[in-house]
Amino acid sequence: MGLLLQSLLITATATRVFASCAYGTFLQPRATEGEEVPVSNFGYIGNIADTDSQGPLNWAALESPANSACATGTRQSPIDMTEGVFQLVEGSDIQVQVNDMPEGAEFENLGTTVEVITQGGTLVSGGKQFELQQFHFHLPSEHLDNGTSQAMEMHMVWQSAEQEIAVIGMYINVADGGAVANGTAPAAKRDLNHNSRFFRRQAAAPPAATAPTNVLETIFSVVDQISTPGTKVKTPPLVMSEVVDVIKANALQTYSGSLTTPPCSEGVAWHVSTAKLSVSPATFVRAANVIGFNSRFPQNTPGQPNILMISALGSAAAAVAASGAVPA
Ligand SMILES: [Zn+2]
Repeated sequence: MGLLLQSLLITATATRVFASCAYGTFLQPRATEGEEVPVSNFGYIGNIADTDSQGPLNWAALESPANSACATGTRQSPIDMTEGVFQLVEGSDIQVQVNDMPEGAEFENLGTTVEVITQGGTLVSGGKQFELQQFHFHLPSEHLDNGTSQAMEMHMVWQSAEQEIAVIGMYINVADGGAVANGTAPAAKRDLNHNSRFFRRQAAAPPAATAPTNVLETIFSVVDQISTPGTKVKTPPLVMSEVVDVIKANALQTYSGSLTTPPCSEGVAWHVSTAKLSVSPATFVRAANVIGFNSRFPQNTPGQPNILMISALGSAAAAVAASGAVPA
């Protein structure tokens, strides 16, 4: 599209909320009750030479300078979770609690993701307390699990009173009903603690395939009803303790990164669980049909120059720019 048209569109959308990973936090306050579900004005498709593109390569240009970190930040997310880039924290070293939602929850299609609006929850990590705002889904996973993309990733977004953001990321795999997909599932680990002959016999046998996570099956049972961006539906009752138990029982990979959507703000305290949730194949297809592709490309190792600066400037110049030194 031409520059004029583009600037007109930006003007037209300036009052709309950038409904992103941070929707519902201080960065993008939720619309008041009864208002329409906002639809994002960024996307995931397109290459950098295409000025029409709303994709991740052009996020910085979509709203300047608000989104500049998307192209210049040096601690951007997602990343490949390889040894050395994260610090491992035991689930028992954080405090996490999420309220169940016996009346169900609002489930919204923001155009770029589908999001469940939560009704209270607390995370205490690194001496800071955060309150849960929402959780949403990416497909495929945004973080790579030691080089490997996973079927989906859930982001639980928390905010502190000091307006800091923490995210718990959980990979979601497709339960294949056959061979082992994810190694030992947390539930199976707990089973090993049982002292009955039944459980000992199970432990000796090959690990069972991961069972679908009930709360995810419940949420996605109504995703068909929000196939149009800007729509919402009430979920059936949600029992969140199932997910909380998995988080508490397993280690988390922590690092300081960014939002994975515009404005790509940094200082986000990432906690990527080493445990994985699952959905059934039918549920995965149902979710994929609505969510589509919504995964930002992997960013450079935290602290290294932004990958877009490297491609624009060449690696040596990008390193100089990232270090803050003035080039001669
Ligand atoms: Zn997200």
